Amino acid sequence: MQLEGPLRKMSTYYGEEIRYTLRLGDDLLFMNALLGRNIEISFNGNHTCFCGHLVSEVYRQNFCRECFFTKPEASPTIMKPELSQAHLGIEERDLEFEKRLQLQPHYVYLAKTDRIKVGVTRNTQMPFRWMDQGAKSAAILLEVPNRYIAGEAEVALKNHFVDKTSWQAMLKDDSTDEDLMESIETAKSLLPEHLKQFIFKDSVEWYFNYPIKHQIKKVKSMNLKAPDDRVQGELWGIRGQYIITENGVFNVRSHSGFMVKMKVT
Ligand SMILES: [Zn+2]
Repeated sequence: MQLEGPLRKMSTYYGEEIRYTLRLGDDLLFMNALLGRNIEISFNGNHTCFCGHLVSEVYRQNFCRECFFTKPEASPTIMKPELSQAHLGIEERDLEFEKRLQLQPHYVYLAKTDRIKVGVTRNTQMPFRWMDQGAKSAAILLEVPNRYIAGEAEVALKNHFVDKTSWQAMLKDDSTDEDLMESIETAKSLLPEHLKQFIFKDSVEWYFNYPIKHQIKKVKSMNLKAPDDRVQGELWGIRGQYIITENGVFNVRSHSGFMVKMKVT
């Protein structure tokens, strides 16, 4: 089986075991079914930006030069919700886009991987965001009306909870023993008074079970950088947006837009 096209992040489906699909060109692969098979991904040196342009050089998050400096999808607010200003009617790059994105309900959550982290996501991205992170479990702390307030809560909790976790530890399944729901209670008590009205009632802990055939002990990262680079190996599992093989791990999301050929044997 040989497929070709720009890599995009895998789609996830929640269930007893998380299911992953990968779209490549016109094909849709059900990745769980490929565990135990040999996978080879080779890079032809070009990238397709989300705007459709084919380019040989990309900026952070694989945007082409023009998108990186001008499109609202690539603006600094995307990474830092606390910089949001659409609720004040202030434009960053495209006020209509920013209003659509920012002035909608968001969740502030705690997720457990190697540690317990605090994060922010649009309501519509849940539980997908957690599966993309490879979280072991997660629970909602607050439901707020816009992205700015979510960012404010996140900043208030950053002194106590981390906002980044180690992907290496996540892939080795090194996880904290801390109880997530106890941490939710701690977080509630740490919130500034004016944010307590947004506490999410009846929060439950969601658990995520990834398709993993062999648990890796050592994490070796495999990357595509130059034309003709290739990664290959027997597929051992998938967690977050990582393909785990006998030879190392491959982050699909960080290669989004890379023009590749994929062979499954
Ligand atoms: Zn572009």
